[in-house]
Amino acid sequence: MILILLGPPGAGKGTQAALVSQQAGVAHVATGDLFRENIRNQTELGKQAKAFVDRGALVPDELTVRMLLDRLDRPDTQKGVLLDGFPRTVDQAKALDDALKGRGQAVDKVLYINVGEEEVIARLGGRWTCRQCGAVYHQVFSPPKTPGRCDQCGGELYQRDDDKPETVRNRLSVYTQQTAPLVDYYRQAGKLLEVNGEQNAEAVGKDLLKAAGLS
Ligand code: ADP
Ligand code: ADP
Ligand code: ZN
Repeated sequence: MILILLGPPGAGKGTQAALVSQQAGVAHVATGDLFRENIRNQTELGKQAKAFVDRGALVPDELTVRMLLDRLDRPDTQKGVLLDGFPRTVDQAKALDDALKGRGQAVDKVLYINVGEEEVIARLGGRWTCRQCGAVYHQVFSPPKTPGRCDQCGGELYQRDDDKPETVRNRLSVYTQQTAPLVDYYRQAGKLLEVNGEQNAEAVGKDLLKAAGLS
């Protein structure tokens, strides 16, 4: 099963991904996490992606699609995958459709988490992420039990560089111009399932599972 989580930066994709991927029995693949890992390890891909990620721009489609298709060749995606943060352009969506077709597969469902701009700005400004396991917290909406430490694994929490206000503004305009057209793309394909993301995380999770037919 191929599922996609779609929504603006800060919609709650990362927060909901563990629940949805576990219920569906598929691997969670987040292109943002893959880029950050490559940047941290200073790989060739990381060096090429860094300047784009730092300023909140999209990494070019060619690099991104190649990285994603390589990831889909790993054995843990046999039963399917939950894509988080990919596709982000119509060209990426078409490249994904073509690649899946070549494997006799197709995108099954696109879960669109709809959240307005004001809410997203408030969320990204308070986001803290675990360096070790990637769990996400919010200083007000979902604080960790011990400040600066991950509840799940005890890892150190950090604020992403691209969550600074100027970069957030840029990411939101990139979303509106380049990613929001995917809502229509998948609606026309009859694959779009929309969920109200402006509820508490538990309610959003329930609605996502219901929409995907997983509960
Ligand atoms: P968020 O969770 O806030 O939406 P991500 O972690 O998904 O952010 O992405 C962080 C950055 O990684 C993006 O701003 C962009 O630079 C890069 N990136 C992630 N996914 C893609 C993609 N599909 N295409 C191009 N760039 C991407
Ligand atoms: P995305 O992956 O879509 O960029 P995240 O899952 O990283 O979004 O969430 C962004 C921030 O918003 C995090 O600080 C997270 O704790 C918080 N958050 C996620 N879902 C909710 C929600 N339903 N209500 C309030 N805050 C939320
Ligand atoms: Zn952790």
